[in-house]
Amino acid sequence: MARIVVKFGGTSMATVERIRHSALHVKREVEAGNEVVVVVSAMSGKTNELVGWVNEASKFHDAREYDAVVASGEQVTAGLMAIVLSEMGIQSRSFAGWQVPIHTDDAHGAARITGIDPTELDKRMKDGWVPVITGFQGISPHGRVTTLGRGGSDTSAVAVAAAVGADRCDIYTDVDGVYTTDPRIVPKAQRMTKISFEEMLEMASLGAKVLMIRSVEMAMAHKVRLLVRSSFDDPNAPQIAPDGKPGVPGTLVCDEDEIMEKQIVSGVTLAKAEAKITLRDVKDKPGVAAAIFGQLADEGIIVDMIVQNIADDGATTDITFTVPDSEYDKAVKALENNGGKFEYARLSGSKGGAKVSVVGVGMRSHAGVASSMFKALADKGINIQLITTSEIKTSVLIDEEYAELAVRALHTYYGLDKKDA
Ligand code: ADP
Ligand code: ASP
Ligand code: MG
Repeated sequence: MARIVVKFGGTSMATVERIRHSALHVKREVEAGNEVVVVVSAMSGKTNELVGWVNEASKFHDAREYDAVVASGEQVTAGLMAIVLSEMGIQSRSFAGWQVPIHTDDAHGAARITGIDPTELDKRMKDGWVPVITGFQGISPHGRVTTLGRGGSDTSAVAVAAAVGADRCDIYTDVDGVYTTDPRIVPKAQRMTKISFEEMLEMASLGAKVLMIRSVEMAMAHKVRLLVRSSFDDPNAPQIAPDGKPGVPGTLVCDEDEIMEKQIVSGVTLAKAEAKITLRDVKDKPGVAAAIFGQLADEGIIVDMIVQNIADDGATTDITFTVPDSEYDKAVKALENNGGKFEYARLSGSKGGAKVSVVGVGMRSHAGVASSMFKALADKGINIQLITTSEIKTSVLIDEEYAELAVRALHTYYGLDKKDA
């Protein structure tokens, strides 16, 4: 007998019919003698609709009320899942985040889970119940409903898995695992049997939205084994693991030590809508970068890639960085109206960039990945605007127009294409 947390994403909860289908996966696990906790997302599109309503009501709304509204989508699906499970003869009840309770800080809209009391969940499971928890939310120290940021149900599931000491956390979604790149962009992408926490963390940070970044961080910290699999599979089919043996199908996200064959490049990611801003002739002295990026941080603008040139004349330098397209106008305004905290000769920039990255733990011990990546892009005539690297990834900023071409070219270049495609 194992203890399993299963999470269903928006497409897996999109209609009552889909909920019924997803519930059959739960039933299979229960009938196999496992203890199961379910974590659910809102129906797909619902959270977007709720966010839209809040913005329509007021552009300058109270973040606490935003959370009160957008958390409601999961309340509907948790109740429906509990009803469907009960109808199948499985004792079940729904729990809103605050009823568990799932404690968070009070950063409304992007709250972090600070603790989960497992007492009630433990008791229910021991009594043969299947608790169904609303993903994406918790309760603040002030007793208000909080949400965890978009895609946050993944994080709820991992946090619950850690709290109840689950053997596994199964993330049911609309793809049957983690692929070498987004299978919607590259049909030749291959499903990975296993991926290390580190690589998954980079892939999630770099644009592979199959798992929320925070959920991978948490899984890594608490050593929760994650299994990404499809809810669209036949729930009654024999469970076959990716290695062909009986077991669970999907991609296992686990410790690097569990992975025998380490690829130099295991995945390619794409993040679109990246804007680039350059400040020319910034004073080359201590404190200037701190002032510039402090100004942006005060506005809550998240900066991604940053490049600073050598000061040719010993007096001034240029700084270039990227922000999401949606933050571009706000960032330019904040830099122009900086109250004399820093000076520059000229500001230039543009929206519509794309960040393409290659990821792999093998890069730690292999030289030349960056240069081969640049060569593969040059062969396609793609111009590189910015470059950043870390131990296990290399990223470039290119024109959005060439984004898909670049991803496909790199996928082929590093031998990741499916053999029979
Ligand atoms: P859910 O609603 O179940 O949380 P998401 O839409 O958040 O599902 O995440 C699943 C989607 O992630 C897939 O439909 C796929 O298009 C996308 N995706 C992006 N990169 C990858 C990747 N490397 N492997 C698998 N899916 C990916
Ligand atoms: N429903 C939330 C969202 O759309 C949380 C999630 O699905 O993970 O962002
Ligand atoms: Mg998701």
